Amino acid sequence: MIPFNKPLITGNEELYIRRVIENGKMAGDGPLTEQCSSWFEDTLACGRALLTTSCTHALEMAAILLDIVEGDEIIIPSFTFVSTANAFLLRGAKLVFVDIQPDTMNINEMLIERAITHKTRAIVPVHYAGVSCEMDMIMRLAHRYNLVVIEDAAHGLMSKYQDKYLGTIGHLGCFSFHESKNYHCGEGGALIINDKRFIERAEIIREKGTNRTKYLHGLIDKYTWLDIGSSYLLSELNAAYLYPQLLLAEPINTDRLTSWQTYYDAFEELMLDDKLTLPVIPKDAKHNGHIFYIKVKNQTVRNGLMTYLKHNGVMTAVHYAPLHSSDMGKRYGFFHGEDIHTTSESEKIIRLPMYFGLQQEDIHTTVRLIKQYFAGEGAQWEERESCKR
Ligand SMILES: *Cc1c(COP(=O)(O)O)cnc(C)c1O
Repeated sequence: MIPFNKPLITGNEELYIRRVIENGKMAGDGPLTEQCSSWFEDTLACGRALLTTSCTHALEMAAILLDIVEGDEIIIPSFTFVSTANAFLLRGAKLVFVDIQPDTMNINEMLIERAITHKTRAIVPVHYAGVSCEMDMIMRLAHRYNLVVIEDAAHGLMSKYQDKYLGTIGHLGCFSFHESKNYHCGEGGALIINDKRFIERAEIIREKGTNRTKYLHGLIDKYTWLDIGSSYLLSELNAAYLYPQLLLAEPINTDRLTSWQTYYDAFEELMLDDKLTLPVIPKDAKHNGHIFYIKVKNQTVRNGLMTYLKHNGVMTAVHYAPLHSSDMGKRYGFFHGEDIHTTSESEKIIRLPMYFGLQQEDIHTTVRLIKQYFAGEGAQWEERESCKR
């Protein structure tokens, strides 16, 4: 069996977790959290990195920092995870969905400007598969219309746009350390603050609305309740799991990129035969091999191929049912302009096994099965699919 994902284990996690147990300090903002934050601030060259319980919570913090009020509008792609939307919905925002580019599955930056109204507060680009959105254009629009840009960089740690790391370009950036991501601690996240005016308030919101962070740094002698907030601190135990992974970020990234390229090269023939399309990496983007996906002709081929692969021990996954078509999306948002690519492209995508340490042999097995499928094996599986309808 070739699994779809294997959560990363470097082998060094136990050592660091034991260190936390020996320190006897398990709550948030201890020495391991500090080491992780410093790693982000030094490696990514970003203003301030606050570890959070999840990327979902980092996004929620961003929404609180913006002081969103009922009816404010947020521009997001419909092809994303629910958290991108929920974080703003919790504060009463209206979701304005914009179509994606079919080659990268990222928000179409050319369609953003016409979705902006006097109620628009923020643009939330999602760097799908760790491949950067067109940030120059997005930042220019934000500047022109006085909007805040919050990068959903859940997929994007170690990826770049031009010479900048993802998560460090917008006013705020959000990372995920869920076990499905390139670097993880089970559940976890980070809020990257690139616009200094947000730093002090972010620390307060993350500490239940108190200035306890200042107190812990010895800057004040007691802490008080100053703002709304919640408990968004990552536990030291989780930080201890994450830290050794960050230390090996480069070799882990290289390993994933090697797997990604192996898939890509092996599929070129099928692409030239028009059986499938492959991801496109724009010239300004340096990605991190978070996802390898192929896109096939339609949903029938997709379901047939996925069932065939599963039957042969290869686990695959789809991605994102468009948010604007869900009950929640219909109730709290709307699609601006025409849905030309979001729904149709989301029905074609198949994510293939991808994780650190994926064997070349397993990649070739997967590719061989897919080639067999398109060489004739597929017919019976698609027939079965049609019977299910
Ligand atoms: C995983 C993911 C999130 C949420 O991350 P959590 O850390 O699980 O909260 C948000 N946005 C995108 C695009 C994701 O893939």
